[in-house]
Amino acid sequence: MESVNQQRLAILTIDDSPSVDLQIRLKHLKERSLTAILFCRGDYLEKRPELALQAIHEKHIIGNHAFSHTPFSNLTLAEGEKEISKTEQIIDRIYEQSDIRRPAKVFRFPYGDKGNRDPTHSTRAEDLQKILKEFGFSPPKLPNLTNSHYQSINAHKDLDWFWTFDAMEYGIYREWAKDLHTIDDVYNRMNTDSPDKGIEINNGTSDEIILIHDHSETTDVFPDILDRLLQKNCKFVSPEGHIDIFIQ
Ligand SMILES: [Zn+2]
Repeated sequence: MESVNQQRLAILTIDDSPSVDLQIRLKHLKERSLTAILFCRGDYLEKRPELALQAIHEKHIIGNHAFSHTPFSNLTLAEGEKEISKTEQIIDRIYEQSDIRRPAKVFRFPYGDKGNRDPTHSTRAEDLQKILKEFGFSPPKLPNLTNSHYQSINAHKDLDWFWTFDAMEYGIYREWAKDLHTIDDVYNRMNTDSPDKGIEINNGTSDEIILIHDHSETTDVFPDILDRLLQKNCKFVSPEGHIDIFIQ
């Protein structure tokens, strides 16, 4: 049974935008009155700024997903900073053209790689968080973000946007996503909680930061994925009120 007081909140985030199919996705989002944070790659924003502009006009938020989608553990600190700053400049320019105030600066690392995957760079993750702070990036603000995996990697202490549930729908076309060959594999995974892996979307109590992707290979299944997510016991909220904007 659902308790109104304890309703779990969910924020929808969409990575690797803007693809050539973003317009189709925007239509599906609008039909369901959903607003999302679109974590955009700088190189794609340079190619398709008009799609990001349309997303802004449809109340979505453009987030920074670095310029070239390189894992940050493979970059020097200076290269990482450049990936962020180049993309910031493009996003600021698009907001200026839109005549809509940029509501917040939000950032997600490509592959969720916080820079801590190379043990020889022991302070890299910490240094990157300092850079995010200097840029003025804001983390999520959700009252009950207790997801076990999210907590175990200390994501609640960081300024970048990690996720509690990744739909991994890209598994249907990427060979390295081993157990996910068909869309039914993706849906079975979505329907089965595995708290040890942080998947608590069906029966958990945590608020959720949901991750899906703007990949042209999965455009056909996008509306079905949205409808399945909407059936979970979560209330999808507009991201704008759920960003922890510091008074600086
Ligand atoms: Zn990505």
